[in-house]
Amino acid sequence: MIATHLHNDTVVNVAQLLKARVGAVRTVTVHLDDLALDQDLEARNLEAGLKFTRIASGILVSGEVTVTSPQVCARCLTEFEGTYVESFEAEYWPSVDVFTGLPLPEPTDDEIFVIDENHQLDLREILRQVAILAQPIRPVCGPDCPGFQSLLPDSEDIADARLAVLQALLDDRAD
Ligand SMILES: [Zn+2]
Repeated sequence: MIATHLHNDTVVNVAQLLKARVGAVRTVTVHLDDLALDQDLEARNLEAGLKFTRIASGILVSGEVTVTSPQVCARCLTEFEGTYVESFEAEYWPSVDVFTGLPLPEPTDDEIFVIDENHQLDLREILRQVAILAQPIRPVCGPDCPGFQSLLPDSEDIADARLAVLQALLDDRAD
């Protein structure tokens, strides 16, 4: 299996993999010091461990992204850096036939990415999207957050409520 490591780069030439049989696999790891997620949001130390699989329509990229980004705690407003992990799967279609060089139809689904005419697959956009997905909706600075007690119900109450729901379900099944 071919393994590739990209350092502060997001482009992989996939000509060989496109010529391989369906099911062929290549592993790709990526490290990016910085990645702009949005106008005013930047992630640091992005690490991706990816598998490129040759599928009939092109290449399936799957794997896990770990990313660190500045956050403001939703409970106590402290600024902190959080590290988050997100898994994903994305399909890439070639824009030209790797054997004949003839143009191929564009994907109709806009969630499918396109490999350029030089067989270069660019991971930047999917990594940006996955890093955004990895961002918590309500970031919390940590277990010692001083805002924890005042803004959330006691964690034991939550556990009791969950148990009550589970117990109700079990009771239903017993009837
Ligand atoms: Zn906090």
